[in-house]
Formats: sequence, structure tokens, C-alpha cells
Amino acid sequence: MSISITNITKLYGEQKALDNVSLEIKKGEIVGLLGPNGAGKSTLMKIITCFIPPSTGNVKVCGFDIFENSLEVRKKIGYLPEHNPLYLDMYVREFLYFIASIHKMNNNEKKERTQRVIEQTGLEKEANKKIGQLSKGYRQRVGIAQAMINDPEVLILDEPTSGLDPNQLVEVRQMIKNLSKEKTILLSTHIMQEVEAVCERTIIINNGQVVADDNTKHLTQGGSLEQIFRKITLND
Ligand code: ADP
Repeated sequence: MSISITNITKLYGEQKALDNVSLEIKKGEIVGLLGPNGAGKSTLMKIITCFIPPSTGNVKVCGFDIFENSLEVRKKIGYLPEHNPLYLDMYVREFLYFIASIHKMNNNEKKERTQRVIEQTGLEKEANKKIGQLSKGYRQRVGIAQAMINDPEVLILDEPTSGLDPNQLVEVRQMIKNLSKEKTILLSTHIMQEVEAVCERTIIINNGQVVADDNTKHLTQGGSLEQIFRKITLND
């Protein structure tokens, strides 16, 4: 199992962001975490990636416990946070090389991995440009490239296509699909069509609870995915 989440609850003061969430994601799956704003998607991702601890419950990533082996968990994971924070004054290759340094790679590994992720994310022509010069679509590619630098088994992508224009959207979705051939991917979105286009399995989360979890095709049969999601978003 790539990710095992057991009875996670997260409280921010009085606010319950996650309410007893349990789920498992198998190796090689591409899973969409779908839910309206405020549902708890980012909170769940921050817990899986060891950025914040849960109030109760536990998570294992590739068999490693987030409390007992958080460094091992981080080695197994690549993470694109929401809003894709980047250093706009750095050059693309320079930035990726810097991220490789944080992972304590030796000089050869740094060069090899930087070149590899540039190729995997289609950044060859942009590699010597400043990040601040790039379009939003290419900045997302840089964000995904930095998440891939350590060749992680699991990719966690928080709203990877948010704010992209229709062409960039298609390209970035295709890139994620290509990456899913070798990785376990969990991506979050509030757009129903996104999970239909990219994800084999969809988990719908609302008010911190899992309200549906099934094969995406199965969920969309007879419009049930649309019905569930419409009901949720109208109630909110
Ligand atoms: P989503 O990613 O689905 O939009 P979030 O996980 O960001 O949802 O937020 C879930 C709930 O937790 C929301 O009500 C949000 O306001 C709240 N929340 C998120 N982060 C914090 C925080 N750092 N402090 C207090 N409340 C927070």
C-alpha cells in the first residue's frame, strides 16, 4: 500500500477540518481528491506530507509512519503545494539544482536528476529562463519538476491545474497522466471534470468527511458523480 490513512481528525482550534478520515491508496493508483473549497483537501495533503500533524489518527506512506519515520516518508514523497510557491528570481535549472541540493544529492546526481525532470516536464526550452518570465502553465511544470526531483514513489499535487488557461490545462493534465505510469499520484481539485479527465479513482470529501470513494467511471455512470458533487456544492 502506498498510503494508509487511519482515523485522521484535524482540529484548528475549534474548527474541525478533518473528521475521522480513513482511506488507502495502492501503489500505481492515480486518485483525485475532489471537494469544494474548505472541504479539507489541503489539510489532508499537508498531513500526508508531514507538514502538519493530525490531532488524532495516523498515516503510513510506503510502510513508514509519519510520526516515527517522518524523514523516510518525506523521501518517498514529492509535493506540489497549493499556489505553487517558487523563487521567481531564480533560473529554472538553477532552482531545480538547488532543490536537488536540499535532498543532499551528490553533484552527479544533482545534474542527472535536474536534467531528467526538465525532460519529463517538457521544460527544455525554458530551462535557462528566469522562473518569473514563465507563463503560469510553465511555472506549474517547474512546481511539478521540483516535486519529482528525488524520484519519489508518491506524488501529492494540490490543485495542480488551478488558474491555467484551456491549452495549458490540457497539457498539464496529459503530463500528470504520463507521470502516473511510474508513480502513485494523489491530486486535489474542486473541478469535477478534472477527475473525470485524469483520475482512475475519485474520493469526494466534504466538511472534512469522505462522502464517496469509487472508480471514477463507476461514479460518473448515471451522473452520480455530478449529482453528489452538485448536492454538496449547493448545500455549501
Ligand atoms: P480545501 O483544501 O479543501 O479548500 P482546507 O484543508 O484548506 O480545505 O481547509 C479546511 C478547513 O480548515 C477550512 O474551513 C479552513 O478554513 C480551515 N483551515 C485550514 N487551514 C487552517 C489554519 N491554518 N488555521 C485555521 N483553520 C484552517
